Amino acid sequence: MYELACPACNSPSQYDISDYLLMCPFCSATFRLDKESGQKEIFNDHYIIANTSNPVQVKSLVLEWLARLNHKPNATAKEYFITNISGLSRPYWVVSLEVYTVWKGLVQRQHRVRLDSYPGTDYLIEHGQFKRNYRWAISGRNNICESWGMTRLHEPKEPIEVAWDGFPLDSTFSRGQLQEPKTEKSAYDSREFFEFKFSNGLAIIGVQVDEDEALRRARLHVEQYHLELSKLNVDYLTDFRTEVEVAGVQLVHLPFWYATYVYRPRTILRHFYRPKEKNVILEGYNNGVLAGELPIRHKDKLWVNALICGAASVILFLLGLAWHSAFFVVALFGVIVTAASAYVALTRAAEANEQAPVVERTAQA
Ligand SMILES: [Zn+2]
Repeated sequence: MYELACPACNSPSQYDISDYLLMCPFCSATFRLDKESGQKEIFNDHYIIANTSNPVQVKSLVLEWLARLNHKPNATAKEYFITNISGLSRPYWVVSLEVYTVWKGLVQRQHRVRLDSYPGTDYLIEHGQFKRNYRWAISGRNNICESWGMTRLHEPKEPIEVAWDGFPLDSTFSRGQLQEPKTEKSAYDSREFFEFKFSNGLAIIGVQVDEDEALRRARLHVEQYHLELSKLNVDYLTDFRTEVEVAGVQLVHLPFWYATYVYRPRTILRHFYRPKEKNVILEGYNNGVLAGELPIRHKDKLWVNALICGAASVILFLLGLAWHSAFFVVALFGVIVTAASAYVALTRAAEANEQAPVVERTAQA
């Protein structure tokens, strides 16, 4: 931390000068510090989307979200417990882009041609082009894993596996809503010039990533996205070209809410199931649920299955000892089911770990 005087209001304050941009806590001015010369330059393209929610509202929304997932909605209040709620206003570089893509590839014919024809005649060459506009949001934080759920916020309509952390602002901040939106205005259109007061109680976190990096990342993300979109048109993509036109870039602080909950079932399952905290993330403009972990995953069910079968096998084995050797056969079957469930649960866990994004930690000089 370093004491600096604000270039706008001259008030002294403590700043983390490893951040790319600094924000004055008194007048909300945003500025850059040139560490070599000590010169300060005011940065004007900084906006904030006001937070409109609060912990009470977030709690009731998360419970409602859980109730909609549950087949016994009335049991939600008795089985689900919200353990924590917190909010953050996070910095994003919002890059306005026009993306133009040309693709070419092979599509298999619906009706096969003569069987004795030479290789490749089953395929037709097709090509096409498309153009899309986005306001693409790129995290202004170096570590996209520092809060839960920030690694894959893009949920395209198309059947595509998203492998990038950036997201189109407009469709993301209008999805997952459980209530009627308060206004027709998009989140972006209701942004304000940055002032701390618009966070309405949320902590505002600092900007670490500069706009050049943000622009590079935005280009990379939309190119990856358009490559996946192009692949949907063909069986074999042979050519692909994308041109990205940047219309502008702004820094916008976006409101997010994080909730954790535990599920304590009131059924027999409770004896076999150790409650684990699960995460839900909401945006704080329209209060849409952006992502959430389901109460019991398939893997957890497999573990419960393994446990119950394991216990049954032991009982059957004892019955075999005490009563009739036929029980050994049934016990053996139980052991096989136990082992299979545990094996599948373990391999699934390994797969999930492999899919988790790897964060490169660069030492800060
Ligand atoms: Zn100031």
